[in-house]
Amino acid sequence: MKIARDTLKFILEASKSSVPDEFAGMLSVTGDVITDVVLVPGTESGEDNATMQLFMLPNISTVGTVHSHPSGNRRPSTYDLELFDRKGTYHIIVGAPFNEASWTCYNNKGEQVKLEVVDYEFKEEDDNW
Ligand SMILES: [Zn+2]
Repeated sequence: MKIARDTLKFILEASKSSVPDEFAGMLSVTGDVITDVVLVPGTESGEDNATMQLFMLPNISTVGTVHSHPSGNRRPSTYDLELFDRKGTYHIIVGAPFNEASWTCYNNKGEQVKLEVVDYEFKEEDDNW
């Protein structure tokens, strides 16, 4: 699995601007590249509220989840591990200081997995403007 560099940048920026709240979303793919983040509406601040919101989403076609830990500690919590097991295979946790090195991808068992960052060309006709 891979992730588009622009998508990763979006995640990091959105997470940074959400501080002190958590940012959360679902990851969606084009082929084998994660290209989209489906935002989770109504996320409130507080420990693990973001992940609880993810539990309530209907089952949309996604490969996993992303959320932020404003504290900077990127270890998955017990709630996170439960979520990982239910909501797909690839789970990204980003943390402060939200730069290109401050994210980790886990599998549904909470083990770290490598996600290759690739340059992906977004086609204009995919945009719903
Ligand atoms: Zn978490």
